[in-house]
Amino acid sequence: MEDPRRPDVPVGYEGLTRVCSQPPEDMEHRRNWEAHNLVRVPFLAPIPLAWDPKTKATQVWVHKYIQDVVTDTFMVLYTNGLWSLLEDFGGAYMYRTKRGYASKLSVHSFGMALDFCCVSNPLGKKPEMPDALVTAFTDLGWVWGGAWRRPDGQHFQYARQV
Ligand SMILES: [Zn+2]
Repeated sequence: MEDPRRPDVPVGYEGLTRVCSQPPEDMEHRRNWEAHNLVRVPFLAPIPLAWDPKTKATQVWVHKYIQDVVTDTFMVLYTNGLWSLLEDFGGAYMYRTKRGYASKLSVHSFGMALDFCCVSNPLGKKPEMPDALVTAFTDLGWVWGGAWRRPDGQHFQYARQV
C-alpha cells in the first residue's frame, strides 16, 4: 500500500516537473510558483549556516510534495540522536543551475534537495558524511550525492537520475 507520507521518488527532470511543476525562470512568475509550491519545515534545533556559522538556521523551505518526508526525516534524526551530526546547513530551496552546468537546473530549484555538513563535504571531494546520517536519509527515500561519480557529499535529494 502506498504510504502518503512517503510519496514516490520522482525520476529525472520529467518526474520532477510532473510532481513539482516547472519553477519559472522569470522572477515574477517564480514568486508565484514559490507561493503555491513551497512550504516551511522547522528544524528541531537550530543549525549553523555553512557560509556564516555564527548565524543559525531554524527552518527550511522545501516543495510541499516532500513536506511530510522532510518532517519525518527531521524527527528520525532527532529521536535517534543524530541531530548534532548536522554540523551546518547549506540550503534547501534555491533557484540556480546545477553546479558545473550552464543550463541544467539544480534539484534545489524544485525545493527537493537539502545540503548539510557542507564544510566537511565540498563538492567533488571524498565525502565525510557520517554513515548513520546517510542511512537515516536513504532509508526514507532520499538519494545521497556522496555516492555519485562526482561526489556531492553534502547533498540529499528526493529525486533519482537527475
Ligand atoms: Zn545540494
